[in-house]
Amino acid sequence: MSSVAVISTLFSAEKWSDNDALLDEYALALNGSRCRPAAIVWPENEDDLLELVNAANHHQFTIHILAQGKNWGYGTAQATASDQVIVNLKLMNSVLEINEDDAYVRIQPGVTQSQLHDAIMSNGASLQLDITAAGKHTSVVGNVLERGFGHTNYSDRFGSVLSMRVLLPTGKIIETGMGAYQQSVAKHVYPYGIGPVLQGLFSQSNLGIVLEMTLALQPAPDFDLNIVILCKSYADAPKVVCEMARLKRLGIVTSGVHTASMARAMGENAKNVAGAWVVTTTLSGPKSMAKARYREMKKSLNKTVPGLRFVALTRQRWNIIQWVNKYLKSPHIESLKIVWDLKQGTPTDDAIKTLLDHPTAHSQMKTKDFPAYFRWICAVTSSKTQDIERMLEICRPLFAEHGYEERYTMTNVTERAVVLIANIRYEKTPESVVRAKAFYKALDTALLEQGFCPYRSGSGLFGDIYPYIEPNHLALLDQLKKAMDPNQILSPGKYWCGQLPSQPQPQPQPQTEKVDREMLAKADG
Ligand SMILES: Cc1cc2nc3c(=O)[nH]c(=O)nc-3n(C[C@H](O)[C@H](O)[C@H](O)COP(=O)(O)OP(=O)(O)OC[C@H]3O[C@@H](n4cnc5c(N)ncnc54)[C@H](O)[C@@H]3O)c2cc1C
Repeated sequence: MSSVAVISTLFSAEKWSDNDALLDEYALALNGSRCRPAAIVWPENEDDLLELVNAANHHQFTIHILAQGKNWGYGTAQATASDQVIVNLKLMNSVLEINEDDAYVRIQPGVTQSQLHDAIMSNGASLQLDITAAGKHTSVVGNVLERGFGHTNYSDRFGSVLSMRVLLPTGKIIETGMGAYQQSVAKHVYPYGIGPVLQGLFSQSNLGIVLEMTLALQPAPDFDLNIVILCKSYADAPKVVCEMARLKRLGIVTSGVHTASMARAMGENAKNVAGAWVVTTTLSGPKSMAKARYREMKKSLNKTVPGLRFVALTRQRWNIIQWVNKYLKSPHIESLKIVWDLKQGTPTDDAIKTLLDHPTAHSQMKTKDFPAYFRWICAVTSSKTQDIERMLEICRPLFAEHGYEERYTMTNVTERAVVLIANIRYEKTPESVVRAKAFYKALDTALLEQGFCPYRSGSGLFGDIYPYIEPNHLALLDQLKKAMDPNQILSPGKYWCGQLPSQPQPQPQPQTEKVDREMLAKADG
């Protein structure tokens, strides 16, 4: 029995579809590639999901899970291969608990950034959300599972996961952390539990379906200073990023620090700004502490890179600037608004407008309606100045050779590691898709070969990274997948767990031509 025939017997018409236009919508990723699913299902609750998982095991079809399916730049909503059943959990979107005393929330996977923000606001809880720049209608859970990062003290978002309730591909449900004990009073506050720490198994993987997530939230700070630092010269950024890592290790800077090339920060408006990079961070806490931190940070950075320009925004100053800008209408202040919102944990669609250089882009747009195609290229480096310089030296000539504007952010996600995120936007024509692909393949490869490896991948992108992953690592992932998903019903091949039908077995050899051709066909549509 085909997957579609099975689904049509299980679910009423409003819970699933194989409508052509809809399948086309889910097929298209924001990089211009296509991978068509067999059907889309929208379960309303755990029972629906369990029924689907049992049917997939019984009838041997594959499913691919989405929280909202807005994984733009990393495969969007595409499954790991064509003809899979996409399961969009956007209707499972309850905020189950807002616990102000222990500063956490419990949510279902379909909850969006805006929805959670609004729920916290209307609850009156003194908690601050960490958000991404991906927009109001992207999920919290999908992004956290991909180990995305945000802008506040809790910017290392997977680090804030306290517990998860997970449906395994076999149909069993487990709870991670102290949930291993049915009677634990610390069920939602101690992520390690006892024995092996299980929650990592469900991040960037295909080993389970997260039904609920408990996330630690930052108590809303008494006071915060939003800091914007302008670097005049291109050569300044590696030194600033390295120094910021040191300041993070010392506990002087506690939030994520984003260092963006001017074009990345300002889009089209970058032409009118003097300076090469803009660095943003937040210093929060009791007023005296935040101000003392600012003094220390400024002193250290001035010593490291003379000539930096600092702006420290308090809420009061920001309100005045915004009032003045009603008349001035300065695009620079508009760009500052994005930074302000992100640092305050207020979901915004403005970053999408800047990144796509389009004033009406927003996070509820269908992929086909985006004004341009888009792709991220990411790499992790140490925070050493020389490593950061070397990483940028790999990128620069390739951007120039392929004729794209250099757009980067470098984020001090932790005290020791920095993540580079480069991006390109390009026309929605077959020629520019081919040209973009040649560029991002060249850049991905050049970075990987020099040891600057991605922290995140996505559907359609796994094959390119596969040859660089250590064989014992691949073999273990394969064993885990076989043990936890014996019928390979859940996104086979995602993050190299289990095999895509055409992928080679995990051996220390380059990819076969066959795989390469399939990947090419997928990306070229
Ligand atoms: C302008 C712009 C700005 C962006 N800014 C950021 C940023 O600041 N930080 C960042 O990290 N990303 C960013 N992104 C990338 C991306 O859009 C976001 O990460 C977005 O949140 C991912 O989409 P989603 O939340 O709908 O997750 P989905 O696409 O639904 O899911 C993401 C992944 O998680 C898996 N998944 C989802 N739910 C479950 C579940 N319940 N169980 C198991 N697996 C599941 C999916 O299979 C998929 O692999 C940005 C993109 C754009 C275009």
